[in-house]
Amino acid sequence: MTAPDPPVPAPRKRFEPLPEWVGPSTRAVHSGRRDDLNAGAVAFPIYETSTYRYPAEYSEARHQGDVHLYTRLDNPTQEVAAELLRSLEGAEAARVFGSGMGAMSATLLTFLSPGDEVVALEDLYGGTLDLLRGLLPRFGVQVRFVSNAEASRPEDCVSPRTRVVLLESPTNPLLRVHDLRRWAEVATRTGALTVVDNTVATPLNQSPLACGIDVVVHSASKALGGHSDLIAGAVAGKAEHLARIERTHSVLGSPLDPFAAFLLTRGMKTLALRVERQSENGRRVFAAVRGHPKVRAAHYPGADDAASEAIARKQMRGRSGLVAFELAGGAEAARRFLHGLRLVEVASSFGGVESLVSVPSETSHRGLTPAEAESRGIRPGLVRLSCGIEESDDIVRDVTSALDGA
Ligand SMILES: *Cc1c(COP(=O)(O)O)cnc(C)c1O
Repeated sequence: MTAPDPPVPAPRKRFEPLPEWVGPSTRAVHSGRRDDLNAGAVAFPIYETSTYRYPAEYSEARHQGDVHLYTRLDNPTQEVAAELLRSLEGAEAARVFGSGMGAMSATLLTFLSPGDEVVALEDLYGGTLDLLRGLLPRFGVQVRFVSNAEASRPEDCVSPRTRVVLLESPTNPLLRVHDLRRWAEVATRTGALTVVDNTVATPLNQSPLACGIDVVVHSASKALGGHSDLIAGAVAGKAEHLARIERTHSVLGSPLDPFAAFLLTRGMKTLALRVERQSENGRRVFAAVRGHPKVRAAHYPGADDAASEAIARKQMRGRSGLVAFELAGGAEAARRFLHGLRLVEVASSFGGVESLVSVPSETSHRGLTPAEAESRGIRPGLVRLSCGIEESDDIVRDVTSALDGA
């Protein structure tokens, strides 16, 4: 069986442009309006189809960007979700994927060849670390991991051999912030492409492209979807980069199902409201746990020291719904804390409407050796709390009473 044609980068003329002056909440609601094929429906429908009838003059029509071919390559419901994210990130182009890892692997495989070097934080999402440590070296890509301390001096980390710089800020689970503008300046001087995973921050709290970063990657399974009911990913950036990523995407094959794309669009429309409430709840929970006698250390974006506060103030609008803290009594105390919670649910994702808590050393970071975990501060007593949109007082009360009994 032969695969369908590779996708031709189509002109994105399908969406009504919004006025220049609208803010993010308005963008989240009104971007993605298209009148070319939706019968005027205010809620854009689900095109649950694998293929499309196309005009006999296929090549001409496709060149003008107004036909679809096959849902692994393109689908109207996917395009609406991608347009919302494009608008929120202030990007030229965007694409959605079947998962965040699908988005990340397509991005890295697009820009890396044998002999190239990637410079990456050692403090990255576990799945991304597995990709960098387990898969890419088999294709001759060299990975240079930098610690949080080294990452404050990007000029010492990047060399002329560096093809891609991969960052997360704030990091997960310790919520350290890295100076995106500085990294972008240094990488641009040596010709490296900068990629930022913006999942933790969300486009509401941080705009990496405005800091000079080239490509933004998301797990849309977290705050973008926002209801813990879908798996999705996205990439946003310059049109020339997205055209190349699209070609990789079409052969790796991790398209977003149209129904999940519909749910993602529906979720993103309330992103601003949710992220504002989550960030306020995160701030309140951090204030409540940081001085608690059962807590050894508490982590929140910008809270490490004056330098990190300055970076957070410069590049973030809000902070986060995520808070991490280490119980003084270690793993046993962490377990008692989980048992003591009555509202917050124990689960290993974040960014949803419900507050969730997990123990990173047992879930997202269990692939680290004990020595690696210790050196990164991901100890057995560390818990990560993702604040939902409940009343602040209720979450604070649940967390502090579970801490009292831990
Ligand atoms: C969850 C997550 C991913 C992976 O996304 P999936 O949608 O689960 O594939 C990547 N990066 C970060 C920061 C994440 O939290």
